[in-house]
Amino acid sequence: MSVAPSVTLRLDDRFARELPEMALAWKALPAPDPRLLVLNEPLAAELGLDAEALRTPAGVGLLLGTDLPADAHPVAQAYAGHQFGGYSPRLGDGRALLLGELTDREGRTRDLHLKGSGRTPFSRGGDGLAAVGPMLREHVVSEAMHALGIPTTRSLAVVATGRAVQRETVLPGAVLTRVASSHLRVGSFQYARATDDLDLLRRLADHAIDRHHPAAADAAHPYRALFDGVVEAQASLVAQWMLVGFVHGVMNTDNVTISGETIDYGPCAFLDAYDPATVYSSIDHGGRYAYGNQPVLAQWNLARFAESLLPLLDAEQDRAVAMAVESLERFTPAYAAARAAGLRRKLGLPAGQADDLVLGLGDELLVLLHAGRVDHTSAWRMMGTAARGDAEPLRGQVLDLPALDAWLERWRALGPDGDAMDRVNPVHVPRNHLVEEALDAATAGDLAPLTALLDAVTSPYDARPGQERYAEPAPVDFGDYQTFCGT
Ligand code: AMP
Ligand code: MG
Repeated sequence: MSVAPSVTLRLDDRFARELPEMALAWKALPAPDPRLLVLNEPLAAELGLDAEALRTPAGVGLLLGTDLPADAHPVAQAYAGHQFGGYSPRLGDGRALLLGELTDREGRTRDLHLKGSGRTPFSRGGDGLAAVGPMLREHVVSEAMHALGIPTTRSLAVVATGRAVQRETVLPGAVLTRVASSHLRVGSFQYARATDDLDLLRRLADHAIDRHHPAAADAAHPYRALFDGVVEAQASLVAQWMLVGFVHGVMNTDNVTISGETIDYGPCAFLDAYDPATVYSSIDHGGRYAYGNQPVLAQWNLARFAESLLPLLDAEQDRAVAMAVESLERFTPAYAAARAAGLRRKLGLPAGQADDLVLGLGDELLVLLHAGRVDHTSAWRMMGTAARGDAEPLRGQVLDLPALDAWLERWRALGPDGDAMDRVNPVHVPRNHLVEEALDAATAGDLAPLTALLDAVTSPYDARPGQERYAEPAPVDFGDYQTFCGT
């Protein structure tokens, strides 16, 4: 008789132990008819979890948080946040739970977390649930981001619950099992600061330093070093979003991590035509989180982080503010340096080219792409072809050919390496029309398009025969794309 493999999982409860004021013991809602839709086997292996065992009923119970080791202490985390500029003192996990922290194969601490696991005391009017489509969307887009080398939370699995979820229509429900280096957010600090409990704020900052910016512990001023570390991490992250054409869509302070990982794949989308004014989210009426606004909004969010940290920076408020402003001013040069480094690679140029020259060249090219409403991902790929001597595909897209030809001449004189460009300019991103097609099919019960899309976007730089449709721009009749938040 064969014995079913069992999952061995050791979960710590460090967040709950060190920050009990921000952790509410809670349990996941049992699922009436669970069905594993997608399991991330490479990630399971990284975490030291047996994929085969995760596919058993006990494993699926673990992924749903309903069949945990006896000593696990799942909690809903408290946090606050500025949403579209307006402050909410109490958001928290209204449909999520932190199951605990595990140590991965490389000894790193990783949060195991659920999204869509039922109502909690933070749910307000919400039902605590999530639908299959949006959870698979997070799975596909976050795994694409990871494959692109962009820091992000990960998705271990999506399990359909068998529970109906009421949205505009009735949809099948699901739970996403998320893995992150932590779920500490700017909003976590805003929450701690608002309690006026300086000891809590200090414990939170120490916890964040230990988990994400350990070098700060040895700095002359550890809390200032923490702030500097987060400024640096966010500047680099947003530069990478901009380089690849990622629109986060809901950069509220509760969706900004201290680790510098991208979090919260609600209304996000990748650019089709290059246009800085692009907004996909149906609720972003003013365009606050438009593609081109992202660097400015990241800095705005970091200013809210600084405000939360002020009492730790200096007991004297004026001195604390001066220190915060000085550190915050490092965002702009850090962002420019990260963007220049990325553009240099996208343009196939050697490391020696000066930042200003690279940024100037990149910006001039983007003006041409904007005017022609050129597909952003394809254009960069055509640039590789242009570097190898054939500029015709790109010339076929851009309107102002004399300007493009003059630009190409200057760029070619710098000796761009087309093959190196193909290793950094993706051919496969989760294009909006493909994501919609895959999610519609999955919601109706057919996972084949999702599997094929996942296969393409997790090999972002390899153009493979048979996968041409994953490299092509949206059909002209795809129209104005809209995404929806928190659905
Ligand atoms: P998000 O837009 O996903 O970052 O969510 C913002 C806040 O709304 C968080 O406190 C979430 O937990 C909460 N929330 C979002 N959707 C739901 C839902 N369906 N039920 C309960 N709370 C929700
Ligand atoms: Mg969120």
